[in-house]
Amino acid sequence: MVSQGSEMVTLTDRAAMHAWSMEQRQEGRRIGFVPTMGALHAGHLHLVKQSLAQTDRTVVSIFVNPSQFGPKEDFDRYPRVPEADREMLAQVGCHALFYPDVASVYPEGFQTTVAVEPLGSELCGRERPGHFQGVATVVTVLFNLVKPDKAFFGLKDYQQFVIIRRLVRDLGMDVVVVGVPTVREADGLAMSSRNRYLTGEDRTRAVAIHRAIGAAKTAFEAGEKGSARLEAIARRILIDAGIHRIQYLSVRSADTLMPMKMIMTDGVILTAVKVGATRLIDNVLLTGSPS
Ligand code: AMP
Repeated sequence: MVSQGSEMVTLTDRAAMHAWSMEQRQEGRRIGFVPTMGALHAGHLHLVKQSLAQTDRTVVSIFVNPSQFGPKEDFDRYPRVPEADREMLAQVGCHALFYPDVASVYPEGFQTTVAVEPLGSELCGRERPGHFQGVATVVTVLFNLVKPDKAFFGLKDYQQFVIIRRLVRDLGMDVVVVGVPTVREADGLAMSSRNRYLTGEDRTRAVAIHRAIGAAKTAFEAGEKGSARLEAIARRILIDAGIHRIQYLSVRSADTLMPMKMIMTDGVILTAVKVGATRLIDNVLLTGSPS
């Protein structure tokens, strides 16, 4: 089904998405793609703006992908605000919204999975078994439907970005994967659709996440290259702020996400913590460039 709003087209099934993309390609237009789960905020819109600047037509997908949520995770209560999302996208000049239902993404009888291993079992994959398999599978389906020239992913979800980059290289997909720096609130908290779960006190406490990894980055820039010592600096700040449930806090190679004893260039410090009932992730690159 295709419905034409003021400017932005909304596509809701595979055939419509495919036809729209074929038409753009036949006209010689380069397609930029921003996959999302909706509940859009300024971080998502930053990706959309990058796509608008770098390509001729931008597609944003909104799909809360069931296969990337664990049985005890927040799939049912994940925020869904399609009208507000549609409005925001139309305002920034997005050309097409792909808003499929589950049956359009996973037709009856679907049985294919895409696994990027062992990358997908590290870090977040340890806490969320099957999560990155769900992500890699849905991104593969979406890439085949949207047929983008460039796809834009936030460095906020750094492991996801590395996995998608690996997937595209491994399978020879003809898509340029662009990583976009994290957009933060004024106090440093990385913007996330899940921030709306945070109550007042937890919201205040959550600021320590960026403070902690930021302190590690400062120490790195001042000459500290030992991963364990950088991790200890960040861990101390989290604990002092009352964040005790640290699922992981790890310095890794920014390229491969392999653990490194010493980081000379191109490292990343990544963390996942629970603040109240909410799981939050963040990272900063240890390279001198912003993340
Ligand atoms: P999500 O809707 O959470 O699946 O995110 C969709 C895309 O937006 C992913 O590529 C995320 O990495 C990216 N994203 C989410 N939050 C931010 C942020 N604060 N800054 C930049 N990109 C983000």
